Amino acid sequence: MAAPSEALPTGTLGKVRPHPSQNEALLFEKSSPGKRAYKLPALDVPAVNAPELLQDVYRTQPALLPELSEIEIVRHFTRLSTWNYSIDAGMYPLGSCTMKYNPRVNELVARTEGLAEAHPYRPESLAQGALQVIELLQNCLTEITGMDAVTLQPAAGAHGEFTGILLVRAWHESQGNPRKKILIPDSAHGTNPATAAICGYQVENLKSNPLGGIDLEALTRQVTEDTAALMLTNPSTIGVFESDIHRVAEILHAKGALLYMDGANMNALVGKVRPGDFGVDVMHLNLHKTFSTPHGGGGPGSGPVACKAFLEPFLPTPVLVRRTGTEGLGTREGSSTTNMAAPGASHLGTWESKDSTSLHWNYNRPHSVGRVRAFYGNTGVLIRALAYILANGPDGLRQTTEDAVLNANYIRARLQDIYELPYKTASMHEVVFSDKRQAARGVKTGDIAKRLIDYGFHPYTVSFPMIVPGALMIEPTESESLEELDLFIEAMRSIAREAEETPDLVKSAPHSTRIRRLDEVRAARSPHLRWKPQA
Ligand SMILES: *Cc1c(COP(=O)(O)O)cnc(C)c1O
Repeated sequence: MAAPSEALPTGTLGKVRPHPSQNEALLFEKSSPGKRAYKLPALDVPAVNAPELLQDVYRTQPALLPELSEIEIVRHFTRLSTWNYSIDAGMYPLGSCTMKYNPRVNELVARTEGLAEAHPYRPESLAQGALQVIELLQNCLTEITGMDAVTLQPAAGAHGEFTGILLVRAWHESQGNPRKKILIPDSAHGTNPATAAICGYQVENLKSNPLGGIDLEALTRQVTEDTAALMLTNPSTIGVFESDIHRVAEILHAKGALLYMDGANMNALVGKVRPGDFGVDVMHLNLHKTFSTPHGGGGPGSGPVACKAFLEPFLPTPVLVRRTGTEGLGTREGSSTTNMAAPGASHLGTWESKDSTSLHWNYNRPHSVGRVRAFYGNTGVLIRALAYILANGPDGLRQTTEDAVLNANYIRARLQDIYELPYKTASMHEVVFSDKRQAARGVKTGDIAKRLIDYGFHPYTVSFPMIVPGALMIEPTESESLEELDLFIEAMRSIAREAEETPDLVKSAPHSTRIRRLDEVRAARSPHLRWKPQA
């Protein structure tokens, strides 16, 4: 294997043609003055003196951009793309992330011209198809969650939490007192306390019981007239279903507090149980987890919020309504065009249902918490989620849930003799081990995760949830076949053997990658960022 890139002095990579599996020079290092990836036809209009004409904005120095040919750029990015591990390359057992397969048909549907090209400023009368997609998805999500209303605006799970807690706050304010505290179990995802804090609430920690669930007695003691809500992930981050959740809801409601459910783990519930039926007042979904939209890398996501009817008046504006005419619905801020869909404008090709109602945005919502995002949400993500839901149908979604839970339990059953299982409660869609036995030989969860890379798998989630010291959090999702699960299990068993026999091998992993183990502290504290401008 070639010397790792860190050994090479800055800037020398530009002189070496890297093997695709090894390092890749920066575009700046590959640049040669004068190279172009385009060719323009000869000027057929009179030339102007741009620097003189555009004095105020014209650069005094040319931009320091790399100069390369088209094929060099194509190869550069294609090579880089082969370094990414992806769900299309293999299993991605990151717990809490639901890295499931994203069926290609979703992409096809999302690229349908009329939807992909729809402009958000298009008059409602010409956007009835896109609005129908939104209406249908809203209906599917209210049905799946057992709630009464939903907003599709939030752009991610954390954004959904924020929106949901804004609703909680607005409702309490309408009752005369926003209250002060939000209770959060110690097993919670870090976004929950962050959300509570950013919505102006004090975070109060709720300790889990020995089974990893809510301690009902502690809860009863801690809920007061100052408690605005409990934020609860169900199933919890250790993959355990909170079987007392209806009692949790009763305890909260008795004191006028609300139950918020973090629905990021709905992959374990869809088609089986509905949060609306067990006392949840408001929740979010992660469409990019449960409903198969590609996620990661900071790409677009979607975190719809579903709520009970009493919270509906507070939902972000605008909300979709189906009716004849637009009277009293208000207009989009700063625009007079949105609601130009006057009754009678149907000669413009308006989609109309048989009962001659059509879909409109209602901006006239005096109790709304306001907008949380431009326009109507990440529409491409919404379309993918709807395609996935409709392609599966109710039975398919239920099967998906059952398979996800079965897969996690299969992994649990086949690894629990060699990896410590701190919580013995039945697992749902993910299973959390700890490195207790391996740590006795100095091998930690992070070492095992890095060794997994040598076996061709993406690591599981490391050191989370925090209530499990040295956690190994594994979520296979329903996408994996028995054969793939067996390969993964064999890899994990083999690493456990190595931890016994050759612990140093595991502690120095990965051994098969372009770059070996980094000094994580140095990588974070003194990142080595290099570029070489042409100057
Ligand atoms: C992923 C996740 C979130 C946050 O969702 P984002 O879309 O990443 O903002 C919140 N809670 C839980 C339990 C999660 O797994």
